[in-house]
Amino acid sequence: MKKHSKEYLQNLTPYQGYELLVEGNKRFISNLNSDHDHLEMINETREGQYPFAVILSCMDSRTSVELIFDQGLGDLFSIRVAGNIVNNDILASIEYAIKYVGTKVLMVLGHTECGAIKSAKQGVEDGHITDLLNRIQPSISKAMLKDDRDYLFGDMVAYANVENSLEEILNRSGIVREMFKKGQIGIVGGVYNIENGKVDFFKNLTKKSKEEMVLTTA
Ligand SMILES: [Zn+2]
Repeated sequence: MKKHSKEYLQNLTPYQGYELLVEGNKRFISNLNSDHDHLEMINETREGQYPFAVILSCMDSRTSVELIFDQGLGDLFSIRVAGNIVNNDILASIEYAIKYVGTKVLMVLGHTECGAIKSAKQGVEDGHITDLLNRIQPSISKAMLKDDRDYLFGDMVAYANVENSLEEILNRSGIVREMFKKGQIGIVGGVYNIENGKVDFFKNLTKKSKEEMVLTTA
């Protein structure tokens, strides 16, 4: 079935969507990227878009999701903001993707060595930056509770921040909660390591469908 079609997306399960991300990142780190023919991708997607995943990630220039998951035009909805924080406009974008386009996977992706997180740890205040960094503070407190020495130096806050964004999305969006409960979407949290290109899919709430369970246990 053609990848960029309504039928393809309708038949894809949330778990298969999650696996596409895992496989794509494996190709990326082993330098076996698919051959992306840009002109062909433009042609394939000119009639409409059917992206299988919506990914909220940081604006960091080293964390472009199309590259790190080895995807092309029309494959991903990419929402990017410093520190992958959540606000109303981001919730609306996610709701549009899953409810009106049929996107199967919702992912929040943080990364190591995040500048926004470092600035939040330092308590930087300036212009609109202050407000954004304030939204990261709960993740710092959460990481501090786990290990009060490591949170300042390691990437524990990046992990806590992905968890907090996922929780916030689930708490604030009735559409996300409902569709997740019905098994219509999968939810994934990951942290991208800027040193080796690897995504740590540390939180996966994506369930296999009943049919897939039967296939794996048979
Ligand atoms: Zn960042």
